[in-house]
Amino acid sequence: MAIAGEPYRQTVRHARPIPNLVPVKTANDDTRIPLQQQRPPSLVPRAHPLRTGGAEAHLRSVRSLYLHVPFCSHKCHYCDFYSLVDTQDRQEVFAERLIRELHGLSRFAAGGPLKTVFVGGGTPSLLRVDLWEALLAEIEGQFDLSAIRAGEGEFTVECNPESVSARLLETLRRGGVDRLSMGAQSFHLQHLKTLERLHNPETVGPAIAMARDAGFERLSVDLIFGIPGQSLDDWCRDLDSALGLGTEHLSCYNLTYEQGTAMTARLQRGDFAPADEDLEVDMYELTVAHLAAAGLRRYEVSNYSKPGQESLHNLAYWRQEEWLAAGPSASGHVAGWRWKNVPRLDDYLRAAPDGLPDVADSEPPDAARALRERMWTGLRLREGLDAARLLHDVRVMEASGVDRLRAAADKAHREGLLEDSGNRWTLTDRGMLIADAIVVDFMAALDG
Ligand code: SF4
Repeated sequence: MAIAGEPYRQTVRHARPIPNLVPVKTANDDTRIPLQQQRPPSLVPRAHPLRTGGAEAHLRSVRSLYLHVPFCSHKCHYCDFYSLVDTQDRQEVFAERLIRELHGLSRFAAGGPLKTVFVGGGTPSLLRVDLWEALLAEIEGQFDLSAIRAGEGEFTVECNPESVSARLLETLRRGGVDRLSMGAQSFHLQHLKTLERLHNPETVGPAIAMARDAGFERLSVDLIFGIPGQSLDDWCRDLDSALGLGTEHLSCYNLTYEQGTAMTARLQRGDFAPADEDLEVDMYELTVAHLAAAGLRRYEVSNYSKPGQESLHNLAYWRQEEWLAAGPSASGHVAGWRWKNVPRLDDYLRAAPDGLPDVADSEPPDAARALRERMWTGLRLREGLDAARLLHDVRVMEASGVDRLRAAADKAHREGLLEDSGNRWTLTDRGMLIADAIVVDFMAALDG
């Protein structure tokens, strides 16, 4: 597992000749960072880097917070997020533990209001309403939500359509949540069954309507393409169905086969054939054009929004800003440190006096790694990379790296994959389609 925030789900498909650029979503949507992919997490829990003073210099300055709720009604066979089947009996102890962790983390954000909060999972909408009430009260009590309440930030909760209720949505809205991310995935029952998703396509519209009634003006819908058996026409109708719900934001992820999932094992056994790669490319191109025609602009490889409706929280990941993280398997980034909380609920529940859990992995500040991470995520954004800053930082580390990196950028520019405005490098539509390959080229240029 990558240290999360997991702004991307990169996959075994990296090995394919045309790298599949479109990631399946994030736990803290998550970003998978290549360097971290190469290193398995430690089996021995370590001390939390914020506990050991690793980020003392940045006390009070963090503006984003991720919370991971690990419960799901069922384990979908394509999913490699940390989640466990909810038996209801552990929700209360989990919520108490999460609140203790928030107490431990809050001093790192005490210098000003939070800009973004994101609750992912798992299925956060499975958490009992009374526990949500307690959790939201604690978040409001421990952190400054004034900017979010003033509409200058964002507080998102992931929901599945089958587990929302009017009471839950009203509780969330009252508690400061102003944005929902709805896991629709498909509007075709047979494709939901292929994914082992439990909901019925007919439940998505009423769930969205209930959210609007509860006062949510910002809604995002998650869809998946490249599902075995899915046609281009099916996918086009999925896009139309989502647009028909009036969503301001769409995340369209390419189904990928994560190592260790049941679906990947079935694929490897030959139980089914994956989607044709050319069809996936057609689906991606259709997505970009179809959503642009409907006024939703792609601002990241897999994410599309109406103007001003981009996910501020995920942008914080992709721009390599800082965020605190709470909950089992949640990953944080503060003062150059990255960490990933222990994933197993039992381990997570063993609280330390300061409320911070042990971590499965942590990485100290590393300028070279930070630079690579910036390239990895920056090139996937429509706003592109701050090339002037990047080259400056490369020059500080190794002067000769600048020429190699410039040569790689020039090559991508000549091939029509990259626009170079002098200060920014931005992938073209063609470049976005092979973003992974371009980033790999850039990494190789850095390595010499
Ligand atoms: S509902 Fe989401 S997090 Fe839970 S198992 Fe399915 S894909 Fe994974």
